[in-house]
Amino acid sequence: MKARLLIACDFDGTVTRQDTLVEILNRFGAPTWTRVQEQVISGELSIREGLQSEMGSVRATRQELEQLLSTCIEVEPSFPGFLKGMRARGIPVVLISGGFDLCVETVMLQAGLWPIPSLANRLLQSNGSWQVDFPYTSSTCASCGHCKGDPIRNWTHQGYTTVFVGNGVTDRCAAMAASLTFSKDELGEWCRREEIPSIPFQTFDDIAAELKKREWL
Ligand SMILES: [Mg+2]
Ligand SMILES: [Zn+2]
Repeated sequence: MKARLLIACDFDGTVTRQDTLVEILNRFGAPTWTRVQEQVISGELSIREGLQSEMGSVRATRQELEQLLSTCIEVEPSFPGFLKGMRARGIPVVLISGGFDLCVETVMLQAGLWPIPSLANRLLQSNGSWQVDFPYTSSTCASCGHCKGDPIRNWTHQGYTTVFVGNGVTDRCAAMAASLTFSKDELGEWCRREEIPSIPFQTFDDIAAELKKREWL
C-alpha cells in the first residue's frame, strides 16, 4: 500500500528564491538587523526575540510591503508544477513559514497560487509600527517563534507520512520530526553537522523524482 503522503514546505528560500524578511529588512529595516540575525543563528537570541526586534524596526505601510513583495520575490520555477502534480494525486501540500502571513499571501497571490493551506506568524500593525503575533507558539519548544515540529507531529499522529522541505534555521525542529526531510542551504549544513537524516535537493523536480524512486507517488 502506498503511504498517505503530506508535503510540508518551508516558504522563504524554499518555495521562493529570495527571503521575504531579508528583502523587507534591507529596504525598510534598521541597518543593525544583520547583527540580530547573527545573534539568532548563534543562539544568543531566540527566533521569536529576533523576529520581534527586526520587524519592530521596520518603517513601512502595508501597501509598501505588498508592493516590495510583489516586485522582488520570485517563486521557485519548479514549485507550481510540483504543486499541480501533488494536487492531481490528492496529496496535500501545506506551507509552513517561520515568516509572516502577509508575505505568504502576497507572494502566492501574485504567482496565481493563492489560496494554499499555510501556517505562518501573524504580522500586525499598531501605532505605525509592526508587531509579530505567534499563533503557533509551541509549549514544548522555547526557541522557535513558530515551531514547525508541532504541526509535523500532528500530521504524523493523523496517519500521514510527512515529507518536509526546507532550507533554514527555523526548519530544524521540522527536519527532526518529519518522516523524510529534503534540505538545502543552512538546514542542509546543520543536518549534516548534527547527523539528522535528510536528502539534499536543489529544485522541486528533485523531490518529485526521489518520491517516485521510493514509489511513494
Ligand atoms: Mg527558508
Ligand atoms: Zn521548535
